[in-house]
Formats: sequence, structure tokens, C-alpha cells
Amino acid sequence: MPRTLDPEVRRALAARIRYYNEMGIYDFYRRPVSVHAEGVAAPIAVDEQQIALSINPESREEMSPRKSTAVAVPVAIEGDENIFEAIALKPDQSVIIREDLGDCTRCVLHKQGRKQIVFGVGNPTAELMFVGEGPGADEDEKGEPFVGRAGQLLNNMIKAMGIEREQVYIANIVKCRPPGNRQPERDECATCSPFLMRQIAVVKPKVIVALGATAAKTLLAMNSSMMQLRGRFYDFKPAGVRSNDPDWDGCKLAVTYHPAFLLRDPRQKGEAWKDLQMVMKELGMKAPAKAE
Ligand code: URA
Repeated sequence: MPRTLDPEVRRALAARIRYYNEMGIYDFYRRPVSVHAEGVAAPIAVDEQQIALSINPESREEMSPRKSTAVAVPVAIEGDENIFEAIALKPDQSVIIREDLGDCTRCVLHKQGRKQIVFGVGNPTAELMFVGEGPGADEDEKGEPFVGRAGQLLNNMIKAMGIEREQVYIANIVKCRPPGNRQPERDECATCSPFLMRQIAVVKPKVIVALGATAAKTLLAMNSSMMQLRGRFYDFKPAGVRSNDPDWDGCKLAVTYHPAFLLRDPRQKGEAWKDLQMVMKELGMKAPAKAE
């Protein structure tokens, strides 16, 4: 039997949910419904306080790895009263991450000449994700990762795999341009990467390609050389985040050379191509036949 909420309770509940939505909270937990011996759900006393307690107010706060493990699975009231779904319409997950990032001032990069935050771009359900180091001057100007010379080479690498840039997702470890194109510092990577981890958990790729040592070392939390890191797959789960898809249990991660390095040392392109072939095999992709 579908249960109907008392209109007063419903109104109070709606107001409370709207209040949390305005604070940026969209995910709600509900305690399991007790079940009678006959297997029929017991009538629930929808008590406002209980709902308030079961709401997870941490889920939109600035991320720390521990907090982010609490990302909630949305649940609705059983029966015909789907008040949560009706009211708490969930915005696109990556929009929430972008909103949480805000006009970020969490590390020094915000005051070292960045023009804009470079969030990430591409297919939000991509099977393949590329992660670079951080935006350069062109990316800072355009607000999109890998649009300069290194980006052109990355585009060519993607094309050589038989796919288009729009089919993959591209992001960086840090979202603000380090001055003079220096490498991002460890603390900058540590401060920024939780947002990338959340992006990964939303995109849920099958394979991530870490471009260069900064991306590889940050994602894998390993301090090995590129030589040691390349040539194999790692099992990867974004640190400190849980995907809201119970069927997604992480992905594979491969390491290859950063396109900017390949521009400086084109002899290594063959090695990078081997890495990408390994990725293609994993994804069941075939390279297009070479044009004559
Ligand atoms: N290098 C990177 O690591 N990322 C970019 O977006 C551009 C260049």
C-alpha cells in the first residue's frame, strides 16, 4: 500500500529539504524501514528531526579525503511520495564539483598570475581519461586543458588511437597555471587533486592515462621514475571518494610520457605509442588503418 504523508509533515519536509539544497546539499540518507513479520513495511513516523539527522551535511563541504568518503547515495521515501526526488533535483555532478571549487584560493597558485581555473573538458561518461600536470599559458587563457602545442600533440595521439578528443575526458592535477610553467609543488598537487578525484569518480572511466611524472606520482602516490612507472597497468580508485555508482569499482591506470616531453624528445614517441596501444587493447580498440 502506498503511504501518503500528512500534508503538514510534507510541507515541513519540503521546506527542510529546500533549505539543505540552498546550502548545496542534495544527498540524503534514510534509515532502513523496519519490516513487520508479514513482510510489510511498518508505517513510518516521518519525524523531521530524524530526517535532519540522516542528512549528511558534510557532503558538499570542502573536500578532505575522509569527509569525501561520505558521499551519499540518494534515497527517496518509498511509496508514491517521492518528495526527495521531486524537490532535490540533483544538478549535474561535475557542476557541483565546479561550484565547490568556486573561485579557489586554497593554494598559492591563485595569486601567482592565474587568469582562470582550468577545470577539465570532455565526455562526462568517457571510458578513457587523460590527466596532465597543470595548465600552461594557452590553457590559462582559454580555460581548457591541453589546447597549446602539447595539446595539439595530445590530440594527434588521441586521433592515432582512432578516436576524437571529444570522446575522452581531459583534466590536470592542478587547475591553475603555475607561474613560468614551473612544475606544481607537492602541496599544490595535494590541495587540488581531491577535486580531480571527484571528477574521476563522476566520469567513471575504464582507463586513465597519466601524462608525465607529476600526474603519475600524484595519482598513484608513488615516487618512482617514469621508467619504473610505464609499461603496466595499475588498479586505480580515486583516493578519498566513492562513486555513486555501486557498479564502478575503480579503473585501470597507465602511465606515459607527457606530450610536452615528447615535443622536446620526439624519439620517445614510439615508446608513448606502445603505452597507448596497451590502453587500446584494454579498451578493445583498434587503431585506424594508416592513410597511404
Ligand atoms: N600541460 C599540462 O599538463 N596540461 C595542460 O593542460 C597543458 C599542458
